[in-house]
Amino acid sequence: MSDIQLVDAPPGVEGAGFFATSIDKVIGIGRANSLWPLPFATSCCGIEFMATMSPHYDLARFGAERLSFSPRQADLLMVMGTIAKKMGPVLRQVYLQMAEPRWVMAVGACASSGGIFDTYSVLQGIDEIIPVDVYVPGCPPRPEAIIDGFMHIQELVKTESLRRRNEPQYQKLLASYGIQ
Ligand code: SF4
Repeated sequence: MSDIQLVDAPPGVEGAGFFATSIDKVIGIGRANSLWPLPFATSCCGIEFMATMSPHYDLARFGAERLSFSPRQADLLMVMGTIAKKMGPVLRQVYLQMAEPRWVMAVGACASSGGIFDTYSVLQGIDEIIPVDVYVPGCPPRPEAIIDGFMHIQELVKTESLRRRNEPQYQKLLASYGIQ
């Protein structure tokens, strides 16, 4: 017997020869299993991400093997490493260049909170400049932790509304960052 597990079917109405569900659930599953990450790696956590992409951990199993180094063709920003305050505007610009829908993962202590670098020159968490959907703890987080964070993003993507950008809650969040 094959041990390959298929994606669970979304809730719907099932009968002999037919299966009906809503289009937002189908699109959610499609999006969640074809995320295009943009790795914004500045230091050691980026090395863990390289391991996450390698055959042993193989992020491709989640449909995310197509990394994008252009924000225009990415929908998941993965920030891995120490972000100096000078890098802040660059990171924000990369985020702004991504089209909706977009999600953000802060990988590791540095991206999440500045980590051990409690100094004048380091941003104390990327959520000071852009909204973050999932935080992955660790210094560095192991590839398993990065994959766990990625799976949390997938759950969000599956359940979020098709037009996330039109939701008042999301617009309020962006407005709190001064983003239109
Ligand atoms: S969290 Fe730790 S491992 Fe990751 S970039 Fe910061 S110092 Fe390096």
